[in-house]
Amino acid sequence: MKKSLICLAALLLLCSGLLTGLADGKPALPEKVVYLTFDDGPKKATPDLLAILDELDVPATFFLLGLQVRAFPEYTRMIYERGDTIACHTMDHSSNDIKEDPSMLALVFRRFLKEMYVALNDPLFTTDLFRFPGGSSSYPYRTKKAVTDLGWSWFDWNAMTRDTYDGMDAPRILHSVITMTKEQPVVILLAHDGKGYTRQALPDIVAFYRQNGYEFRRLSSSMEERRILARCPAHMHLPDNGAVGRSLLETCRALQ
Ligand SMILES: [Zn+2]
Repeated sequence: MKKSLICLAALLLLCSGLLTGLADGKPALPEKVVYLTFDDGPKKATPDLLAILDELDVPATFFLLGLQVRAFPEYTRMIYERGDTIACHTMDHSSNDIKEDPSMLALVFRRFLKEMYVALNDPLFTTDLFRFPGGSSSYPYRTKKAVTDLGWSWFDWNAMTRDTYDGMDAPRILHSVITMTKEQPVVILLAHDGKGYTRQALPDIVAFYRQNGYEFRRLSSSMEERRILARCPAHMHLPDNGAVGRSLLETCRALQ
């Protein structure tokens, strides 16, 4: 009798252990998350950035420009092979065309995916993630809506390295990251590829987030990421019916 009671207690303990971290049957989400995002690449120094990210053992998200993908297909492949998220940041960082005529976005996405297809030789490459050049705030509602109408998601940020500002150096970049992160539990950090001071500051940036209990993740429009991003105050929009990843073929089909 005593033995069976002990067994029952052990079973209950095991079950409660298994259930720990499960809310509504869904796996528990990390409390603190940071997404390192690098814009405007690939660039000549992309391999240096990737080597540092490898050394620090952190994932990243790259918002690439189609024309840069064309210029540096090998570096695009390196990002892809590392498993990092590749997202679209237009072809050439121009914003006027899509501000004036939102229907141009369909063409931009198609052209971007075509460049990716050529660079990777993989027609099944998928992305449905976009960042507006300069951030979403200067774009009209109809342009933002056009992104989600096409089934894509767009993301701004809620912390910046300020690595494109004049007079920045590695200590100032770190200071900017720390002061802008504050107590925010979910951070999308804006940084740029091709910036030497950013690469220099990265070990300290990563150490800061690690010391403060952040998990490093890659952006995506998956259900799990949506649940995490719901606690992030950055401007963004993920369409409810968005497909998780769209290949060039799927996008072309959707645009026809
Ligand atoms: Zn940019």
